Amino acid sequence: KILLLSICVAYIAVKWTAPSFDPESLRGARVLVTGASKGIGEQMAYHYGRFGAKIVITGRREKALQQVVERCLSLGAQKALYIAADMANESEPDKVVDFALEKLGGLDYLVLNHIGSSSFSMWEGDVEHTRWLMKVNFFSYIQMAWKALPSLEQNKGSLVIVSSVAGKMPSPFVAPYVATKSALNGFFGSLYHELALKKSNVSISICTLGLIDTESAMSKVKGLVKAPAYPATEAALNIIRTGATRQQELYYPWFTHIICVIRDWFPPLTNYLIQNSINYNP
Ligand code: NDP
Repeated sequence: KILLLSICVAYIAVKWTAPSFDPESLRGARVLVTGASKGIGEQMAYHYGRFGAKIVITGRREKALQQVVERCLSLGAQKALYIAADMANESEPDKVVDFALEKLGGLDYLVLNHIGSSSFSMWEGDVEHTRWLMKVNFFSYIQMAWKALPSLEQNKGSLVIVSSVAGKMPSPFVAPYVATKSALNGFFGSLYHELALKKSNVSISICTLGLIDTESAMSKVKGLVKAPAYPATEAALNIIRTGATRQQELYYPWFTHIICVIRDWFPPLTNYLIQNSINYNP
């Protein structure tokens, strides 16, 4: 109990000392959000729109992107444009960043959020799917980050990576997804230090999310996972706030941080909790 209490006190202290968020800082900011045709990315696009940012969004489905752009404009975005792209295609990540740089005249924020679809089931040896997922969820991220870095550097910009608690604490039924998120955490964790050593202007924020109530996540885990799901719109706002205040990490909901901290201290307890959060009868 004392241990848990100390963790909670330390957590509250960290939160209190976190820099405060000024939504006005996003007025006119030039933002590229990936995977914004639905889910958390869509909600981020609306928040950026309300804050008066200039945004480019991307995803594969043109019609959905068009509708999101229209809503962003009606909410107050200074500019809202879309470009349809499939991140499994090696030339598309560069194409998307070039489009945003050209249309917005530079970038202040690059928010990497998209994911390819992957089933919620036991791994049955499908290496090809894992290879494809790495392209979409990982390689396209590092390609876009590299392409955008010079402009972000020029504008004291921010790189925001949307990751998952699954990338820190592997859970069953999502092995290929876990691999891609672990790769992101490792790669951008390393890049964070390299930029700091170079005294770069660019901040990197890695966002660790728990279960969020997006349609795609809910349809996959329904009846299989016992954990509660948290609102996409709030997750989106927390991601934006983390990028705008240039914080290194976000844990949303808050207790995901505690789960990650205690993981290494009590492995049997962690294993018990993970395996008991799943409904599975062989
Ligand atoms: P969704 O499945 O709702 O949205 C995924 C987005 O990615 C869509 O806009 C989709 O657009 C786009 N996308 C899918 N495939 C491709 C592709 N091949 N090329 C380009 N874009 C593609 O995801 P969520 O909103 O649930 O998740 C968003 C982020 O949050 C992800 O990084 C995820 O890992 C993370 N996260 C989510 C959690 C959750 O419970 N929801 C939990 C932890 C982390 P389109 O179909 O038009 O291509």
